[in-house]
Amino acid sequence: MKFLEVAQFFQKLEETTSRLEMSELLYELFSKADKEEIGKLVYLTMGELVPSFVGLEFGVSEKLALEALSKAVGIRLAQIQQIYKRFGDVGMVAMEVIKREGRGLSLSQVYDELMAIARARGTLDKVMLLINLLKALSGIEAKFALRIIVGNLRLGVGTATIIEALALLLGSRSYKDLVERAYNLCSDLGLVARTLVEKGKDGLLEFKIEPGYPVRMALAERVADAEELIRRLGRCAIEAKYDGFRLQVHKKGKEVYIYSRNLEPMTDMFPEIKSAIGELPIEKIILEGEALAVNEQTGEFYPFQITIQRKRKYDVYEFAKEYPLKLFCFDLLYLEGEDYTVKPFIERRKKLEELIVPGNTLELSELKIVDSAKEVEDFFEDAIVRGLEGIMGKRLDAPYTAGSRNFNWVKLKRSYKGQLADTLDLVIVGYFYGRGARSKLGIGALLTAVYDPSTDTFKTISKVGSGFTEEEWVRLKEMLDHIKLEHRHARVDSLITPDVWVEPRYVITVSADEITRSPLHTAGKVGDGPGYALRFPRAVSFVRADKLPEDATTVEEVLRMFQMQRKVKIEE
Ligand code: ATP
Repeated sequence: MKFLEVAQFFQKLEETTSRLEMSELLYELFSKADKEEIGKLVYLTMGELVPSFVGLEFGVSEKLALEALSKAVGIRLAQIQQIYKRFGDVGMVAMEVIKREGRGLSLSQVYDELMAIARARGTLDKVMLLINLLKALSGIEAKFALRIIVGNLRLGVGTATIIEALALLLGSRSYKDLVERAYNLCSDLGLVARTLVEKGKDGLLEFKIEPGYPVRMALAERVADAEELIRRLGRCAIEAKYDGFRLQVHKKGKEVYIYSRNLEPMTDMFPEIKSAIGELPIEKIILEGEALAVNEQTGEFYPFQITIQRKRKYDVYEFAKEYPLKLFCFDLLYLEGEDYTVKPFIERRKKLEELIVPGNTLELSELKIVDSAKEVEDFFEDAIVRGLEGIMGKRLDAPYTAGSRNFNWVKLKRSYKGQLADTLDLVIVGYFYGRGARSKLGIGALLTAVYDPSTDTFKTISKVGSGFTEEEWVRLKEMLDHIKLEHRHARVDSLITPDVWVEPRYVITVSADEITRSPLHTAGKVGDGPGYALRFPRAVSFVRADKLPEDATTVEEVLRMFQMQRKVKIEE
């Protein structure tokens, strides 16, 4: 298929304000691709060339893209920059200045060119390749190619929407679970799409986990107290909840891969973990654990602020020496060709205990099998005294449920009086200009939302106007202006209209005093009833690089937090 057709579909996707129409448009687009093209098309729709866990980056800034555009069209850079000031988007500049028709490149040709740009080593080579590509593209093609290159496609198409479109490709939305299962096992939607087009349903049914392809992580639900933990899980395992980085570690022969909770490649950041895993006398394994910095002298855990310093690209070895990490292993997903995710937790844990000999870097998470609330309570108190953030509870007979949050795992955290027990991760969907002292910054509050997986939409829960420094507001505005939209995004459900709509991309962590009911917000709203809102919300983090919009707190979690808060109030 021609790249022009892809670009025209992207344009339609950008213009739609309906989530349903978005998946139907995508389905229509995907049905035009053959088996050589479908994988590439899926990556491009996500603004990528390969799945994000591969970590391939273009390394082309907007400034560089504008320079290439100026050379490709023969218009002075100053003039191009002037137009850029008007739009704040390289794609729109390309639309504006390229008036001729393109050379009719195919999707695969454009994909290959983009790949060559991403792989080229030097800036000069990248620019030369980009100029050549731009010379062959029409305005609309260049608009989307350039946006992909600078990492700002702005379609905001989430994985759930793509999964739905792929299910339609199999014949019905009801195949969503089948597509999703394959995706949960490999985290590579391009590969899933290719398998689906080549081998149909059977291909997806046969999908297996494989070292080198991260498994989407299992997540935990919240419980209010020890009684609820036992009521939900019965006799179960409880573990210390360490406050560090969740890592999924893969070993395949001599190769070791380390992935973050968000499935980003982190292998080079943690050399001590890489070498400890590399030394295991095992050919192929996938395991998970929480990594944190431990004071070697005292054996105490460092606070998260210290651990987080280890997440860096530079001076990795110096920091590894100063703050060595320990990996507290807590789950086994795969061993020597065998899929362990389908086995009960207790069996996985037993095997893990056979494999991991606690030593310098690898440790086993602290675990106790319990059957009473009293035992849970004691373990919890002890964990809190030692500075841990809480405990985890795990069903003994549960499989590892890739990519889902359910009651196979639960978390019990400390609660603070007068405040919500937990923070919320919220997606920014728009902002307000701000009044008074803030008006000079041009931004005064954010419109934020939680995620609703059942509809794949973002539902508003609060305006957030405090918690950031002036400098952070300025940075935020700059980041948000890069992804501003002409209209509400198709996946945002809101009764409030902010001054500026943005693509749902950035997540911030927010604390609040209370969850209240409010007719203004759409989170948890049913029919004409009120939704949920936050009282005294304040940001406690800047934009979280480790969270995707779909990792935000869900509507269901808000409901549970609301119920828990009522319970605490009644007990007080
Ligand atoms: P939180 O902010 O509570 O960590 P989260 O969204 O990152 O939430 P949850 O599923 O809610 O993830 O909580 C489980 C997290 O706790 C895991 O992702 C992991 O990083 C961490 N963790 C710490 N200790 C353990 C343990 N022993 N077993 C499982 N997970 C653990």
